[in-house]
Amino acid sequence: MTIAIVGAGLGGLALARVLHVHGITAVVYEREASRGARGQGGMLDLHTETGQRALRLAGLTEGFRAIARGAGQDMRLLEPDGTLLHQEDTPDDAPLARPEVDRADLRDLLLDSLPAGTVRWGHAFERAEGGLLHFADGPAAPYELLVGADGANSLVRPLLTAARPSHLGQHVVELGIPDIDRTHPELAAMVGRGNYWVLGDGQSLAAQRNGDGRVRVYLGFYRTPEDWFATAGIPFDDPAAARRRLTELYAGWHERSVALIEASTGPVVPRALATLPAGLTWPSAPDVTLLGDAAHLMPPVGQGANMALLDGALLGLALAGHPADLPAAVAAYEREMFDRTGEVARQCAKAQQVLAAPDAARRMAAFFQGG
Ligand SMILES: Cc1cc2nc3c(=O)[nH]c(=O)nc-3n(C[C@H](O)[C@H](O)[C@H](O)COP(=O)(O)OP(=O)(O)OC[C@H]3O[C@@H](n4cnc5c(N)ncnc54)[C@H](O)[C@@H]3O)c2cc1C
Repeated sequence: MTIAIVGAGLGGLALARVLHVHGITAVVYEREASRGARGQGGMLDLHTETGQRALRLAGLTEGFRAIARGAGQDMRLLEPDGTLLHQEDTPDDAPLARPEVDRADLRDLLLDSLPAGTVRWGHAFERAEGGLLHFADGPAAPYELLVGADGANSLVRPLLTAARPSHLGQHVVELGIPDIDRTHPELAAMVGRGNYWVLGDGQSLAAQRNGDGRVRVYLGFYRTPEDWFATAGIPFDDPAAARRRLTELYAGWHERSVALIEASTGPVVPRALATLPAGLTWPSAPDVTLLGDAAHLMPPVGQGANMALLDGALLGLALAGHPADLPAAVAAYEREMFDRTGEVARQCAKAQQVLAAPDAARRMAAFFQGG
């Protein structure tokens, strides 16, 4: 069988790996020119029953343990005036229930576990027609099963559903402080080993320590209209001026939190967030399916990568279990995926509502403290 996977993100690679473990060859078409062409972003916490389960099914538990950081689970939750509401420090011998892993390390682990040539870099999928995949450049390629693992703005998705992502009501600006222990030791101590989280009314500031000594700072703006970046006066093409404007937007917040914005260097990256409807389904097709964000783009509250990995692993198992009947394998995979991810998407939507609420900090603290 000719299995074509579009997208070498975590989900597409997990699928290719599980198929490989079961002796099935697949080809992954990725639009990026090489594995290092684009920064992969920050840390992910992988949950035992989903993301980590996928890596177990992929035979990569040992490799995962080598790159996982238990201390990355540490968390400090504050209000904008600097009041500490909740703190979690992970004991050195704590089980790796939700360890943090650098997204780039995880992608490398998956890429290195595949036979050379599995990923065809520089292949930007454009359309599928008559059993052939067409790319922006180069010759068409045949497929019997096409798997869209091409993320939020999937071009495979329209083959199955007319659903499109819609604005979540949240905008995020990403900043970075490289080598923070050396350049800003006092801020490094404040952030700690994991996550430093300040929640205000309609605004948040989250700092996250990465494995390479960089701290990523995510500024969240909630209850925003779709065109908010056009009106917020943040000049993204002038990072110094953008930082000054962001500092203004955090006027009244404790100076220690605002210092994280001032200490950042490099680009100021805007992200407008969108989601697909929770519980999206489609009538099963014999030769096309979706996984990960292409299938169920959710609010970014820590589930998307876990679900993408598990989708990939479970689709791989389904295909390995029905090698002579791809449509049956796809339908079985989709039934489980729709139930599981629909429920998770609804939970994410609720968590997103809490984060967007005026008293988000107190509500999140109560949640962490079991209230
Ligand atoms: C700010 C932020 C923070 C997040 N934090 C977390 C977290 O802590 N934990 C968590 O679980 N999730 C988190 N997520 C969600 C997570 O990033 C995604 O759910 C996950 O990456 C989805 O994986 P995927 O494989 O489906 O898609 P992606 O990772 O988006 O990969 C898609 C791949 O397809 C390629 N591609 C796209 N179009 C084409 C094309 N036409 N042709 C060929 N290739 C193509 C892309 O280049 C990419 O390599 C976060 C998301 C955001 C925005």
